[in-house]
Amino acid sequence: MMSNTKPKRKPWIRSIQSWSWIITIIWMTIANFWHPFGLYGLVCMFTPIILALVGYGKMSCARICPRGSFIAVVTKRISIGLKRPKVTFTRWFHWLLWGVMMGSFLALIVWAIPRGVYVVGNTILIFMESATALALLCGVLFTPRAWCTICPMGFTSGNLARLVSGGAK
Ligand code: SF4
Repeated sequence: MMSNTKPKRKPWIRSIQSWSWIITIIWMTIANFWHPFGLYGLVCMFTPIILALVGYGKMSCARICPRGSFIAVVTKRISIGLKRPKVTFTRWFHWLLWGVMMGSFLALIVWAIPRGVYVVGNTILIFMESATALALLCGVLFTPRAWCTICPMGFTSGNLARLVSGGAK
């Protein structure tokens, strides 16, 4: 007999976002001196996706993400609290930003791979630093974690979490 009970979300860990911003500073600093360490950026990118796929929903965004923690820590005292433009609430805008960022990331990686691990690491680092700069700008202009409402990784993990829990539309 088929059951229509949705799978239960797995229990979340306690938040580490009071200190996980340190991870962002450490990995970016090391990667600027030793470019292959830029590959660590893939851990930051794929953690929300993997956790969503194995049933932890958006736990990474809510409890772990070092970048989310970093932008909150840096901008919480300087955020000027403007209203976010209406367009940033729309689904098509989220998809557009997702497409532009994921598309450019993929193109950059395809370009970098034949050039070796130093170039790949540096490419990932520059991409992540650019995204972090954008996130900081959003944090200053709107609210400290405004970026998290449009972030392509958060958007991806949210969609995957809905798919896994059977709630995708
Ligand atoms: S939305 Fe993006 S930046 Fe914010 S916590 Fe999630 S993955 Fe990190």
